Amino acid sequence: MALNVVMMGPPGAGKGTQAGRFARERSLLKISTGDILRESIKAGLPVAQRAKELMDRGELVDDDTMIAIVRERLMRPDAQRGFVLDGFPRTVAQAEALDCIVAERNNGPLVVVDVRVPERELVRRLAGRLICAKCGTNAELPKAGDTAPVACAKCGGELVQRTDDNEEVVRERLKVYERATKPLVDFYRDRPTFRVVNGAQAPGKVEHELDTVIDDAALVVARQEAAASVKAVTAGKAART
Ligand SMILES: [Zn+2]
Repeated sequence: MALNVVMMGPPGAGKGTQAGRFARERSLLKISTGDILRESIKAGLPVAQRAKELMDRGELVDDDTMIAIVRERLMRPDAQRGFVLDGFPRTVAQAEALDCIVAERNNGPLVVVDVRVPERELVRRLAGRLICAKCGTNAELPKAGDTAPVACAKCGGELVQRTDDNEEVVRERLKVYERATKPLVDFYRDRPTFRVVNGAQAPGKVEHELDTVIDDAALVVARQEAAASVKAVTAGKAART
């Protein structure tokens, strides 16, 4: 049975990294919205034509177009083992469409993980982000207790604070994310396959918690399905006697 995962979380929560790691370890297809958009436009897929037009005009890609692109990708053979989505769904309409796609694939449950990090920690992470003034490479965030790096690891250039990363801008970005995501969390929150992970822990602990909740959620669904099929068999027998 395939394992299908949606990874949610604010900027700075490390969900992209975790999504990539989890997908690699379980041989699942990792799909991030940015990558899949670029890929399908480059491949000249008909579904991507409208996305390209919108992006060329500097506009956001609409729900229907985004859904068509994701659907096309998830129906390909290399997605049959399962997938980890990063950056999709973003709206309730997209989430409803994803439910349909998963039902159509009829292969494994959909587990939704929300990686949460308190705002003050996100602000610390994002506003502390340094970038090389010379080559533009992002500097690694120092781990707790370590001092921040002083020069670019790649070219030795001077590290400066990213201009779009000052505290006020970061707080505003987080607010926008919060507002946009609330309906999506409400859409998923009552499902037995919706799980919250504490993203403020050390990366190793986040990994462990993520693996545990995803496996547990998948197991819950497997048990429910087994129970349902036992009921169906029993009902069938009862009907025959
Ligand atoms: Zn550099």
